[in-house]
Amino acid sequence: MQCLLFAGRDGRGAARLLSMLMAYCCLALSSVLSSALLLVALATPAHAAVLSLDAPHSTGDGKPFVVTVTADVPGDVVLDWRGQAVTVPMAADGTRAGWTGQAILAVPLDAKPGTETLRARVAGQPKAAAAVTRAIAVVRAAYPEQRLTVEGKYVNPDKAALDRHEAERARVKAALALRTPERLWALPMERPVPGDVSSLFGLRRVFNGEPRAPHRGLDLRGEAGEPVNACAAGRVVLAENHYFAGNSVYIDHGMGVVSMYFHLSAMDVAPGQTVARDQVIGRVGSTGRVTGPHLHFGMAVLGDMVDPQVLLENAPGDTGATTRE
Ligand SMILES: [Zn+2]
Repeated sequence: MQCLLFAGRDGRGAARLLSMLMAYCCLALSSVLSSALLLVALATPAHAAVLSLDAPHSTGDGKPFVVTVTADVPGDVVLDWRGQAVTVPMAADGTRAGWTGQAILAVPLDAKPGTETLRARVAGQPKAAAAVTRAIAVVRAAYPEQRLTVEGKYVNPDKAALDRHEAERARVKAALALRTPERLWALPMERPVPGDVSSLFGLRRVFNGEPRAPHRGLDLRGEAGEPVNACAAGRVVLAENHYFAGNSVYIDHGMGVVSMYFHLSAMDVAPGQTVARDQVIGRVGSTGRVTGPHLHFGMAVLGDMVDPQVLLENAPGDTGATTRE
């Protein structure tokens, strides 16, 4: 949740980080390209729908991925994933005789390595009904450590601050629990500011020598007052000041996808407001636990914080990343 500008001057660490990032990108790309199409006829006598499921073979913890489903009959499809059911709105596919839809899924940071099963079934049918399944391997993504120095009140907050933080956490939890059925997002998502990355998602953080929660967003460089754009269409669920995150805007994009924008100097939207992709929702600032103006851009998928970088158009480079060994 915290952020830092210009902290890292260790070129060796940055180079290592860059090579790790490139390795991950290559892995993700090859994984998507090699995704086989599974075709299974569902054994329902009334209408034997044929579903196909396109998903990666493996994913790293904290990394979102896209699933595409197609069907030969109209009607929504439900994806069962890690105990949650996601309804995928299906639309006529102009290039094929059928219907298609997409969902964004993820496993949370620090999820145990192993295998998860993704299931797709026609909406309205019980979970026990025949379904297309896909095994997805969960691997540990490599997240480096980052050491930062901030004001003491942000490392060991007093009771009043902790009470305030707990109240804010409850409001955030409610926002991340939204499962708006409509899909308002589109891929790739818009970069909210043009600046490059100053802190990657997932960094293991040590503040003033004390280990704290990992970085659960992507820090993007920006000047104070610079406009911040919504990464996709959606509805504002929170626009308020938080202890650590400062002025914060949360946007619900539907299907369990929520984006967030922290440390703003100004918020230009209000809860309940509908926003378009690219719409200015606030201004870059340095409110909350920061060391300088920048945008902390976060993304939640089905309640878990994930790395937004892989969903962005023209994904920003990590030149000058702040990681230190
Ligand atoms: Zn941050």
